[in-house]
Amino acid sequence: MTTVLACDPGTLRRGACPSLATPMRTGDGFLVRLRPVAVALTADDLLALSDLARETGNGLIEITARGNIQLRGLTLGTVPRLAEGLEAAGIVPQTGVAIETPALSGIDPSEIADATPIADALRNVIADVALTLAPKLAIVVDGGGVLSLADMVADIRLDAVETNDAVAWRLSAGGDRETAQPIALLSSETVVEGAMTVVAALAAAGAGTRGRDLDAEALVARFNMPALPLAGIIPTHPIGVHRIDGAPVLGVSPAYGQMHADRLAALVRSLSSCGATEFRLAPHRTLLVRGLSEAALAAAQDAAQREGFWCTNRAPGRSISVCAGAAGCASASFDTHAAADALVAHAAEWLDGTVDVHVSGCPKGCAHPARAAVTLCGTADGVGLVVNGKASDPALVTVPADGLVPAIQRLGALSRNRRNNRETAKSLIDRTAPALFVSAYQGQQ
Ligand code: SF4
Repeated sequence: MTTVLACDPGTLRRGACPSLATPMRTGDGFLVRLRPVAVALTADDLLALSDLARETGNGLIEITARGNIQLRGLTLGTVPRLAEGLEAAGIVPQTGVAIETPALSGIDPSEIADATPIADALRNVIADVALTLAPKLAIVVDGGGVLSLADMVADIRLDAVETNDAVAWRLSAGGDRETAQPIALLSSETVVEGAMTVVAALAAAGAGTRGRDLDAEALVARFNMPALPLAGIIPTHPIGVHRIDGAPVLGVSPAYGQMHADRLAALVRSLSSCGATEFRLAPHRTLLVRGLSEAALAAAQDAAQREGFWCTNRAPGRSISVCAGAAGCASASFDTHAAADALVAHAAEWLDGTVDVHVSGCPKGCAHPARAAVTLCGTADGVGLVVNGKASDPALVTVPADGLVPAIQRLGALSRNRRNNRETAKSLIDRTAPALFVSAYQGQQ
């Protein structure tokens, strides 16, 4: 198979999505993001991916917040070899618009509906029509269940809801389950056609249009099948142990979403010897493992921890988004992973899961393009602190890189000194004046 690069990857702009056809230049070479068509991966699939990451890149593999795989450190010369290797291994990457479904769709008895057939039908219809859509357009089809995607923001959402005598789908735009604008309540028979009405509206409004930009009122009037807002729910975090039909499913995450291919291969071999038969990619940088018996669960968790994977959703580091940093990217001005470890060690109070914390080697902000409650961002002058902003936003204050750990220690002390009993990190940030962050970070507390 010959891979044709769809654009000059060196000029791939922010906002576009890196893929096999359009790898993205980063500080450590080219990055390819892919999501296999197959929901369930085998041990051989993951071992093949590990081999290809070493052969064609620098061996670093990431699982993203939306559950995609990223291989890093490729060159334009090795991308075609990656494509060949994937084909030889029978791993087919998805193409086209990203359509997300819960990782346990179709096998979870607690789900309201299996989202997979709706997602597949929608994917096929979109592929058949030549529409120009925003490169990062995302659609969520959420049938509910243990690992619902209630907290995943999308341009278009389809949420299964139970009505008196059947399952219906709430169509909404521009947000998560709670914040998206309700548009219509559709039957299973009309849901794909209804979603395509919104897809067409996005295309008609221009290639960069996102769900949040749509005139929701006009769409509601067009359907005349009103839908109510849905209550927000806090979905179960995929890291940890879940049970499907009584059988354990173990969610593990590489620390900060990144691992070397050697670690992934070692993990897969260890888990296979514990009985693992199937692996599923899931949001929050998680790999779900099926096939383990109750008796083998503890051994599987021990093996994952030995290889540097988190097995519990109480791991404080799961609140931190970290890019490759100085260990893997020439654009980074400091060791982002060491900084994340320092946050865990000295400022864990900020990591209670109620806010996003972002550690970025440079203002590009690869690991968390959106705003985060707290961002530490490397620049030529040191490491800047951004509160409620993006890595590219102006820092409130900057400290030299060699003064970062003491600055993190002071941020931790700020939290411990000012936090009320049981107060969340989000609440503390919301009521804390920026000047207090500046003085703590600078050492003038
Ligand atoms: S954000 Fe991180 S990974 Fe992205 S270019 Fe900057 S240093 Fe490299």
